[in-house]
Amino acid sequence: MSTRPPTLRLRVSPAAETKLRQGHPWVFDGSIREQNRDGKPGELAVIFDKQDRFLAVGLYDPESPIRVRVLHRGKPAKIDENWFAEHLAKSLTLRIGIADADTDGLRLVNGENDAWPGLVLDRYNDTLVLKIYSSAWFSYLPLITNLANAQIPNRRIILRHSRNIRDQHYHDGQIISGAALDRPIVFSESGIKFYADVLKGQKTGFFLDQRDNRRKVEQFAANCKVLNVFSFTGGFSLYAARGGAQSVDSIDISKHALDELQRNWELNRENPAIDACPHREIQADAFAWLEQATEKYPLIVIDPPSLAKREADRAAAIGAYKKLAISGLRLLAPKGILVCASCSAHVSTGEFVQAVRAAVSASGKKIRELEITGHAPDHHVTVPELQYLKAIYLQQQ
Ligand code: SAH
Repeated sequence: MSTRPPTLRLRVSPAAETKLRQGHPWVFDGSIREQNRDGKPGELAVIFDKQDRFLAVGLYDPESPIRVRVLHRGKPAKIDENWFAEHLAKSLTLRIGIADADTDGLRLVNGENDAWPGLVLDRYNDTLVLKIYSSAWFSYLPLITNLANAQIPNRRIILRHSRNIRDQHYHDGQIISGAALDRPIVFSESGIKFYADVLKGQKTGFFLDQRDNRRKVEQFAANCKVLNVFSFTGGFSLYAARGGAQSVDSIDISKHALDELQRNWELNRENPAIDACPHREIQADAFAWLEQATEKYPLIVIDPPSLAKREADRAAAIGAYKKLAISGLRLLAPKGILVCASCSAHVSTGEFVQAVRAAVSASGKKIRELEITGHAPDHHVTVPELQYLKAIYLQQQ
């Protein structure tokens, strides 16, 4: 006789049922109405509706207020190794054609948006970075490693996990498959080389999500004096230089980020435009620096970190976006282009755009809106609440 415990079964509140049917990927602890037994991290939990019909199946996480992360909904399915293999293949198929021959930094699995809730897989050249945000995934790591090795062969796999979770067998930055790291990871994005800090960096080591905006900025940069505010390691700065910028000023509060920016610049010396482009790295608080700056720039990018980490920060963040846009507009040269970006999930595209438009009105300048952009296609969004990235392109008339 098997001693396996019975399937973990849950019923949830009517509101949570509706949300699940609409495709929402999470069940919160407070919406659970019935549960047949306690569950362990990573156990499969099956959610039934009032009529005992299958609603969804997901990963149980007793340590998180997000008690179940949905893997599958609709018709019942057996979640086994084959299912995970097909599931990974589906995510990879979606990305076919997204990376050009000059790009080997790409998101392969985008969490909830690919029905891998709380799990992200990014590729940087020969290295995969698997980042998990729930301890439910720890017990699946051997399986995922095998699947990744089969479907994306010959890559090193590095595990990253969010700070609030831990496991006795794994640690953040652990190489869970492939060769030890004997040198920093360099990858290519549209032919520009960057270091990715895969062991300790934010997210998985680089902000891959801004790729398409960087490509656009390159198109606008010819002969421009460029200001890149919140530059991090110079993504926008290097694209602008390659696009023929006259000079690039990069502002960041982090010395480490600016040191990396310089290293990234050195990596790309073979490109004549990058090699020839004068650039200044300015370590400063961007808000304070912008207030006192007077020099005018024909191309300005302002891409701050998330200014609303929690819902409670939303109003203050909207105010800060407006302030940044006001500063950017003040420093914009005639006919100049200002790109304002936001990566705060708690601030909607509508709210962000409104804040920037309010700044435009306050500036008294005649400004044309060129474009509003969202996520790069490898970071596609299927869960509206998880839409975080937006950028607006403005041109002074
Ligand atoms: N634009 C970047 C990503 C920006 S990440 C890219 O395309 O890759 C946010 C950056 O803002 C980080 O590098 C962080 O060091 C910096 N930062 C955070 N607070 C800051 C502040 N008050 N002033 C200047 N830089 C700041």
